[in-house]
Amino acid sequence: MFKRFSITFWATVFVSVVCLSLVGIDVWRSFHARTEQLQEMERQGANLARAMAQQADDTIKAADIALADIVERIETEGQGAQVLARLQPQMRAQVENLPQLVGLFVYDEHGRWVVNSRGVLSQAYNNADREYFIYHRSHPQRGPHVGLPVISRSTGKWIMPVSRRLDKPDGSFGGVVLATLDIDYFRRFYESFDLGARGAVALLSSDGVLLLRQPFDSTRVGSSMRDSDLFRHYSRLSGPARVGNAFFHSFHDDEVRLNSFRPLEHYPLFVTAALSRDEMLERWRRDTFTRSIGVVVLAAFIGFFGKRLVDQIKLRAQAEAELRVARDALESANRTLERQAMSDGLTGLANRRQFDVTLGNEFSRAMRHQDTLAFIMIDVDYFKQYNDLYGHSAGDEVLRAVSKLIRALTPKRPGDLSARYGGEEIGILLPNTGIEGARAVVERIRAAVENLQMPHSGSPFGLVTLSAGVATISPQRGVHESAMLVEAADKALYAAKSAGRNQVCLA
Ligand code: GH3
Ligand code: MG
Ligand code: MG
Repeated sequence: MFKRFSITFWATVFVSVVCLSLVGIDVWRSFHARTEQLQEMERQGANLARAMAQQADDTIKAADIALADIVERIETEGQGAQVLARLQPQMRAQVENLPQLVGLFVYDEHGRWVVNSRGVLSQAYNNADREYFIYHRSHPQRGPHVGLPVISRSTGKWIMPVSRRLDKPDGSFGGVVLATLDIDYFRRFYESFDLGARGAVALLSSDGVLLLRQPFDSTRVGSSMRDSDLFRHYSRLSGPARVGNAFFHSFHDDEVRLNSFRPLEHYPLFVTAALSRDEMLERWRRDTFTRSIGVVVLAAFIGFFGKRLVDQIKLRAQAEAELRVARDALESANRTLERQAMSDGLTGLANRRQFDVTLGNEFSRAMRHQDTLAFIMIDVDYFKQYNDLYGHSAGDEVLRAVSKLIRALTPKRPGDLSARYGGEEIGILLPNTGIEGARAVVERIRAAVENLQMPHSGSPFGLVTLSAGVATISPQRGVHESAMLVEAADKALYAAKSAGRNQVCLA
């Protein structure tokens, strides 16, 4: 597998893997950081909600204890002037003791003021139209009722009413005892939290009415949030599941916030602390952005130098390949040269050098094996005249044609060799061949040349012909030498010439 692809391929893969891992690791890290940031946001929201619920519960509880006490006093002791005279300073003392309390009030069954913590009774006001009054008049329950915040008739401040019903001895409606809680008391508490610039907290009734929201907006107080995603989600939960968190599109603005909600322990209310997702992720975004730029620059850097490296490797591989090609060409040229050094350029037959080497070898072999070695010497007749008559290059053509015939008609056993022996003389070496065999070979050649019918006006035959001398030897050590065989063939050739040419003579 490793060898199937080039080194440049692997270098490219390596550089790519490094760059991709760099980017991949950073993406993973960013994702992880985001998850952590969100988890931190959940913790923060849950803590806020716990603190808010606790504070609201304690605040209302303290006022409610005072209410329960007044209800008990009036129901057992009645509303006589003496009773009220004793009750009033105690109510004033309660209000002074509890910073969240604005006032404590007792109304009769018609909404008229009976006694209050301030001691001033105004007949100008009647509270029979207030929500809490109507509520208690129509509900026999004795428990506390937390009403919608309103602007106080006596002080003009935003207050939250907490009230209990007064019963007459026969159980019929006898009026209302009311505590008014200072909204500013809640606001001051909520303002002590760091909610970020776009966070919000809210106190809601369990049936989805907004009691209080920070940032404070008087127009929203008492508005219904029953159609909000937050309330729909919350109202589907029950029991411990009502402590939790979820992302919602805000009911009031366009913000997406993580809402951590939690019910109050003793009252049908719940709080929600909502932190802006975008704001919480802002720092993560900035971090991720700067980091990403760094990583991209680094990856580009590695990619750039990686590419240069790969290019260098590629160049080197190319140079090596070129070197290999050059070496192969050189080797092939050497082989050609070697071949050329052993052969004759004009005729394509072996040259004199190779002939001498082969003659030496075959002579020794014949000597060892006591074989017969035949040698034929061929010479073109009247060739000098041919050159004179037809030109030297026409003479060369004749030599080529004769050589071609000789190549075709000479046996091709190992050791058989046709060679250009001299100018227009050709020698044929036939190991392991008797005189008659050799004569048959050369006779065929002679006849074939004659049949070629190459015109030669300087010859008495009118054609190009050749003469040949044949000699054989069974060489014996110390007696014979290779030159003797050549001499004998040469002599036989001379005889053939003398006898009139265009014939074969045996030594
Ligand atoms: P003979 O019949 O006695 O052989 O007469 P000849 O004219 O052929 O005499 P010889 O064999 O002595 O001829 C040698 C001549 O061959 C000399 C030269 O002009 C010619 N010759 C030798 N080598 C070449 C060659 O390579 N090309 C050409 N065209 N002629 C050559
Ligand atoms: Mg000749
Ligand atoms: Mg000659």
